[in-house]
Amino acid sequence: MTSSQPTRPSTAERTVRSRDLFDRASVVTPGGVNSPVRAFNAVGGTPRFITSAQGAWLTDADGNEYVDLICSWGPMLLGHAHPEVQAAVVEAVSRGTSYGTPTVPEVELAEELVARTPVDQVRFVSSGTEATMSAIRLARGFTGRDVVVKFAGCYHGHVDSLLASAGSGLATFAVPGTPGVPESSTALTLVLPYNDRAAVDRVFAEHGDRIACLITEAAPGNMGVVPPEPGFNAFLADTCTRHGALFVSDEVMTGFRVSRQGQWGLDGAVEGWRPDLMTFGKVMGGGFPAAAFGGRADVMGQLSPTGPVYQAGTLSGNPVATTAGLTTLRLATDEVYDHITGAGETLKAAAAEALTAAGVPHVVQSTGTMFSVLFTDRPVRDFAGASAQHLPAYTAFFHAMLDRGVYLPPSAFEAWFLSSAHDDRAIETVLAALPAAARAAAATQEGDVG
Ligand code: PLP
Repeated sequence: MTSSQPTRPSTAERTVRSRDLFDRASVVTPGGVNSPVRAFNAVGGTPRFITSAQGAWLTDADGNEYVDLICSWGPMLLGHAHPEVQAAVVEAVSRGTSYGTPTVPEVELAEELVARTPVDQVRFVSSGTEATMSAIRLARGFTGRDVVVKFAGCYHGHVDSLLASAGSGLATFAVPGTPGVPESSTALTLVLPYNDRAAVDRVFAEHGDRIACLITEAAPGNMGVVPPEPGFNAFLADTCTRHGALFVSDEVMTGFRVSRQGQWGLDGAVEGWRPDLMTFGKVMGGGFPAAAFGGRADVMGQLSPTGPVYQAGTLSGNPVATTAGLTTLRLATDEVYDHITGAGETLKAAAAEALTAAGVPHVVQSTGTMFSVLFTDRPVRDFAGASAQHLPAYTAFFHAMLDRGVYLPPSAFEAWFLSSAHDDRAIETVLAALPAAARAAAATQEGDVG
């Protein structure tokens, strides 16, 4: 008899502890997760319980290692446990963790945000949701108007008025996108198709004098990456200005991620416009709960305590979180973005090559350093296009990558994130996994034909 090859343990054998933890978690937490996007409901299976992370790598409770292409959904621009960020955080913790008074790092982080972006002032909060919620309240308070315009497929956190689906036709008010949001909360929200100038023109023509603000992801990443068509953000800014509404650019995901100056650096700085308000989160918190909104001095001046619009937070500007964010941003040099750009180009080209070789329809879309692979045969410019993806192909692709040590977002509607810690070993692990994953995706199509 020939000696047999050692067989690779099955997925079930390699995920014993994660499955046990998931069972326990599911008893005490709805769906076993503290944010739905972490669950594997869209792709099936058990989320891995991560016990440590270093650089580009995650280690789960069973000791499996994965190249991380989620990066905490964006924040970990420098990779996990970056030594300088870690040292700064440990030092900050040694001086106490929260005082409920103004602190030094929050001033320095605010100065860093003001230096990098077109905002005059910022106010810190603890999550992106809080940032967009507060920006909308401020826009309403400043303009004395109530209506908010948003785009289908853009996610701005779980703010009641923004969890809205388009109503029965264009230029009609929205309906709640989830139970628990009263109709009255979305009755002042208009939802339009992204990249659709005519739809924007129509609602401003009809409702312009009631619109407090238009909020958009600076470049959507929550329906997969869907870049704004050239000039679209400038058009939105101009339309808002002409109608006395505020233009709110949500850079929670793109800020300090797609480039040193975020998406605004890619189009606003080039085309010569600026948002009235911006929202930030993720990278600027360096992996801690920190976010911010900011903008024109005259608008920000309406906030309490200088103005009448109330907004507050016990942990806002927390010294540990702002230290992590400040250290991260100071380390986020051009070299960091160049490295991520280079790694991204390699991955995008390899994914496209593997999927083409396997005959899987796909498009690769990007803005700056952020990209996604969408399983559809035509460029995606709005949510309807993103929804036309062949989801079973992504499911098969995702699991084949996971089995080969690559942790992709467990949803076809997400960006893939890289960090400056994604070195040759990490990238080669992803490249090695791609051909088999592409073939797995192809098999779902064959099965679907007929
Ligand atoms: N805005 C955008 C563009 C986001 O991508 C997100 C989260 O993914 C948010 C707002 C909400 O941020 P958070 O999850 O910190 O509340």
